[in-house]
Amino acid sequence: MADQLSGAGLAAASDIPSLDRLLNAEALRPALATHGRTQVVAALRRDLEALRKRALDGGVPRHELDAAAVAARTSAALDQAAQPRLRAVYNLTGTVLHTNLGRALLPDEAVASVLRALTTPANLEFDLDTGGRGDRDDLIDDLLCELTGAEAATVVNNNAAAVLLMLNALADRREVVVSRGELVEIGGAFRIPDIMKRAGAKLVEVGTTNRTHAADYENAIGPRTAMLMKVHCSNYAVTGFTKSVGVADVAALAHARGLPATVDLGSGTLVDLTQFGLPKEDTVRETIAAGADLVTFSGDKLLGGPQAGLLVGRADLIRKIKKNPLKRALRVGKLTLAALEPVLQLYRAPEFLAQRLTTLRLLTRPMRDIQPQAERLRGMLAHAAGRSYAVEAVPMFSQIGSGALPIDQLPSYGLAVRYAGSGRPGRHLDRLETLLRRLPVPVIGRIADDALWLDLRCLEDRDEAAFAAQLAEPLA
Ligand SMILES: *Cc1c(COP(=O)(O)O)cnc(C)c1O
Repeated sequence: MADQLSGAGLAAASDIPSLDRLLNAEALRPALATHGRTQVVAALRRDLEALRKRALDGGVPRHELDAAAVAARTSAALDQAAQPRLRAVYNLTGTVLHTNLGRALLPDEAVASVLRALTTPANLEFDLDTGGRGDRDDLIDDLLCELTGAEAATVVNNNAAAVLLMLNALADRREVVVSRGELVEIGGAFRIPDIMKRAGAKLVEVGTTNRTHAADYENAIGPRTAMLMKVHCSNYAVTGFTKSVGVADVAALAHARGLPATVDLGSGTLVDLTQFGLPKEDTVRETIAAGADLVTFSGDKLLGGPQAGLLVGRADLIRKIKKNPLKRALRVGKLTLAALEPVLQLYRAPEFLAQRLTTLRLLTRPMRDIQPQAERLRGMLAHAAGRSYAVEAVPMFSQIGSGALPIDQLPSYGLAVRYAGSGRPGRHLDRLETLLRRLPVPVIGRIADDALWLDLRCLEDRDEAAFAAQLAEPLA
C-alpha cells in the first residue's frame, strides 16, 4: 500500500476528471452500450461524488481516477444492479413443494403455453364459435368438471382468495360452522378465523381441538347459519384421542337442514396418489362424491400447476360466486390460465402423469436414481467444501411440502456435510451454507443436527451437469 501511494501519489479533489470527459472516454463505451446513458451518468455521478469526499478527507490514490478504473467500478455497480432479483436456485431442502421457493414447477407443455400467451393475442374472453364475448373460466371449467365430477367450476388467484370469495358470496353476515380442530393457520398469514372475518362471515366454532362430534355441528345450526365448512388440516396432524366428522357426515347434516357443506381441501389432488406409492390424500372427486357442495383447492400444490385457487361444486353456488364483485378483483390473468390448461390436460392420461407432471415426477423419483447421484456428487462437494468438512452420501427423508400430508415422509438420498475440525460446528456449517447460497445458481439446503443436508430428490438428472460445474472449484 505504502509503495503504491508513494509511486502514484495522492490525488486532490481538483484532479478528479469531469463527467463529460469520462462519458467520452473509450473505457466507458462498453458500459454505455450495455446500460445506456441514463444509468451510466447516474452511476458516474455516484462514483465521482465518493471520490470527491475521499479526496477532501485525505486523498485518493491517483490510479483510482483513471478512466479505466472508473469504468471498471461503474460497470461492476451497474452489472450488479441489473442482476435479476428473482433467480433460479437449486432446491435441495428436501421439501418438494416449497412455498418460499415457488412451489410446483411447471411441465414443458405449460411453459410453452405461457410463452405463447405472453407473445401472441389469444381468445381469453372471446368466443371463437360466435365471435362474441366469452368468459375466461370457459377455458378450463369443463376440464375441471371432467376431472372432479363437479357440476361447475371457477378459478381465482390462489386458494386463500377462493376461500375468501366463497365465504363472502355464500355467508356474508351469516354464520359458518367449523370444527375447532380445523381452525388452521397456513404459512404466510392465512388463518381461517381471519379470512372469515374479512369475508364478513361469522365463525361458529364447534367441538374441541382434538374431538368434534356430529352432534356438535347439529347443535350449532340456527336461523343465521349459512353453511357447514370443513378445512383440511394441511400442515399438522391431531393424533391420539381424536375424533372428527368426515365430509360425508357433515354433508348429510348440512343437507338435512337445507344448507351447503363446503370443504377447503388445501392441496387438493386430482388423482389417487397411492397408485404412485405415495400416501393417501382425499381427492377432489372423492370429496365431491362424499357430498361436498363446494370444494376449494390450490393450483400450485399437489396439482402441480401455477398459483391459482380452484372452486368446484354445485352449479347454483358457482353462479352466485361468479356474480360476486370480489370475483372480478381476484380473477386470474391469462398466464395463469395458459399454464393451468395443459396441466389439467395431463390428468386426462393418468398413465403418463408420473413422467409428465413435474411435481409428481419429483415426488416419485426412485431411489435407484437418487442414490447413485448422491454417490457421484459426494467427492465433488467434498473437494469444493475443503478439508474442514466431511461429506457423506446418506439416506434421508423428503417432504411433500405446502401442507400436503404433513406427517408422511418420502425416503430419499443426499449429502450430509459435517464440520471435521474441533470445536462447535455451528459457525462452520453456517459459513458453508452461505457459500453455497452465494453460488451463481444458489444451492439451498438445510442445517439440522449439526450437519448441512442436501437432499438430491429435486436435482433431476438433466440438471446434474450444471450443478456439478458450480462445484468444480473450491468454494471459499
Ligand atoms: C395452502 C392452503 C391454503 C392457502 O392456499 P394458497 O393457494 O396458498 O392461497 C388454504 N387452505 C388450506 C387448507 C391450505 O392447505
